Parts: sequence; C-alpha cells; structure tokens
Amino acid sequence: MTRSVIRYAEHRIVRDPECTPSTVASCLYEGCGWAAVPGPDVAEVDRQCMKHTGLHAGHGRFLRGFEDIALVHRVDAP
Ligand SMILES: [Zn+2]
Repeated sequence: MTRSVIRYAEHRIVRDPECTPSTVASCLYEGCGWAAVPGPDVAEVDRQCMKHTGLHAGHGRFLRGFEDIALVHRVDAP
C-alpha cells in the first residue's frame, strides 16, 4: 500500500504595489486594427472606444483587457 501526505498551505494574492495596472481595448471590426492608448483609467479607455465608434459607424465591438502584476504569498499559520 502506498501512502501520500498532502499538505494544505494557505496563500493570498495581491497586486504588486510597484506596478501600475493597465487597461487595453482594440476594435474588433474586421480589418480595422485600431487600439486605445493603454492606461490605468478604465473610463478613459472607454471614452476612446466611444469616440472611435462615433467617428467610424459600425465599429462598435471592442476587445478589452485589464493587466497587472500579481504577487502570491504563502500565509503562515499563527
Ligand atoms: Zn474600428
């Protein structure tokens, strides 16, 4: 009979305080290739998307993403 020991260790995940999160968006209209200027402010990226749609009828779908750096730390039991 084979035995194995599985240990449970609690972890937590936090944003790296030294990084600035970045929001990105790009137009999904075929052949367009437009992308918003990335930045930490989601509302500003949304405004860029709405402006793009206003200038180009039919360009109303965008791929949006949010990127940051996360750090995982093991939480030691007290
Ligand atoms: Zn477009």
